[in-house]
Amino acid sequence: MNTKLCATALLVVGVGLAACDTPPQNDGLNGTLWLQSSVENKANALATYRLGTMMLDAALADKSWTAAPNEQKGDFSGKPPAIILDVDETVLDNSVYQSWVVTKNTHYSSKTWGPFVNDIRSRPIPGSLDFIKTAVAKGIKIFYVTNRKAPLEAATRKNLAVFGYPIDTSEDTVLTKGEKKAWKSSKKSPRRAHVAKNYRVLMVFGDNFGDFVDGYKGSLAERHALYQKHDAMWGTKWFMLANPSYGSWESSAFGNAWGKPLAVRRQMKLDALDAWKPK
Ligand SMILES: [Mg+2]
Repeated sequence: MNTKLCATALLVVGVGLAACDTPPQNDGLNGTLWLQSSVENKANALATYRLGTMMLDAALADKSWTAAPNEQKGDFSGKPPAIILDVDETVLDNSVYQSWVVTKNTHYSSKTWGPFVNDIRSRPIPGSLDFIKTAVAKGIKIFYVTNRKAPLEAATRKNLAVFGYPIDTSEDTVLTKGEKKAWKSSKKSPRRAHVAKNYRVLMVFGDNFGDFVDGYKGSLAERHALYQKHDAMWGTKWFMLANPSYGSWESSAFGNAWGKPLAVRRQMKLDALDAWKPK
């Protein structure tokens, strides 16, 4: 209940003060506030893309360089270069949708996500447009690999075009979930493999572990092990944008058990914290 409603309710039916003093508790508040309004986020995203820009020439020059170690097969040294980017919270900022979720104290749903995407309200992530334009100017093909579903591809292309994001039209370079039979899964390795078949993948950009590896739904310990296994990739070939608003990092804490009641999932997240125990 917001303050205005509380004041009205107090006057009309004498609702208890305690209920009105506390705004709705939504776990997305701080993360979304940070994502949408903080210069800390902007500076972090900008720095990530600038680091990517700095690595471009080395990636182009080293023909043994690949950012798809699990998908790039055979001799790829002579293949033309490509870069794979996720879309949501990597290239496009959907924080107005997340803010709607938080202020309505609701949750993500495909029923509201579709209309949001079709409203073309997503904004550029700082640094992403300059980076992509620089890469294209160096002859690198850009692939957008997104878990937006196939029916949302047209709106996604439209939103990217609004801000002038280059979209190569010599082939499909916006690879959505379910667009092909083999791409039904949220796991992106079949789409990375599709790109790696004809291109040398120089870099991957994402905001979710799943943008890089398929094991993102593992336990927190399994994710950590997989992260460490790919230690050499981060900041050279793999670039992670921060997303404290949503992601597999959250659901892993409650075993991806979205069917459990909210209170149970929240308790599991609390239990996942490594908290100081004062003596
Ligand atoms: Mg994303």
